[in-house]
Amino acid sequence: MSKHIALVTGGIGGIGTSICRELSKAGNTVVANHLAFEAEKAQVWLAAERAAGYDVHLAEGDVSDFESCTAMAAKIQAEVGSVDILVNNAGITKDGMFKKMPLENWMAVLNINLNSVFNVTRQVVDGMLEKGWGRVINISSINGQKGQFGQTNYSAAKAGMHGFTKALAQETAAKGITVNTISPGYIGTEMVMAIKEEVRNQIVAGIPVGRLGKPEEIAKLVNYLASDDAAFITGANIAINGGQHMC
Ligand code: NAD
Repeated sequence: MSKHIALVTGGIGGIGTSICRELSKAGNTVVANHLAFEAEKAQVWLAAERAAGYDVHLAEGDVSDFESCTAMAAKIQAEVGSVDILVNNAGITKDGMFKKMPLENWMAVLNINLNSVFNVTRQVVDGMLEKGWGRVINISSINGQKGQFGQTNYSAAKAGMHGFTKALAQETAAKGITVNTISPGYIGTEMVMAIKEEVRNQIVAGIPVGRLGKPEEIAKLVNYLASDDAAFITGANIAINGGQHMC
């Protein structure tokens, strides 16, 4: 029998896929959320992950749209069950200098990285409260902790996620629910590997450990926070950045 049901938003992306695998390896049934336009890619992903032995399902939904999240949650409830572990992982960047940033780039990044946390968590928190057990894990970023040139939108959204974490952690701690933030540094996903080698080398030069992080390293931390062993960790913001930013 599955230990718990986990929902990973942006679950078929670089870090999302590793998170789904780790949570499945730990005995959980995992639902990977994806956007409607990614349906074909998601089916290929599902077949490959199942062939590799992972207990995964798919759930279509746009995390920036509350109604879409309501429909997605109802479908998951009916087809898989009640979500015990939520990983708010979906995210985008739309970088640019603030003085030239169009409103649409501000809104898109805030909606997908921050308002999404409300839109999805709001759907599943009642079930966790009823059961007296739950895990909410928000994937933020080093750039929400230190700010980043050209990322006022992303830095604001990612910093906002941790404010949410701290407040909800207080509201739910007595009910067996933990809420935590993970702030990754630069991870060697497709997005980061697509950066010009010269620029990437400069980034790596600023990381004391001397390399990019691996998606599996983020996923193993998620898996630990989702476990019973991590019941005393709540409201935390855990940096995982190779020493690039220490606070
Ligand atoms: P990725 O682009 O591979 O994955 C992001 C996923 O989110 C994609 O599958 C995308 O389709 C999905 N997504 C985007 N908008 C969505 C929406 N409206 N609804 C549902 N899904 C949507 O990127 P990644 O590197 O795997 O990033 C995962 C998370 O980690 C993001 O929140 C990102 O900000 C954060 N992060 C990444 C790094 C890094 O170095 N890669 C560093 C720090 C933080």
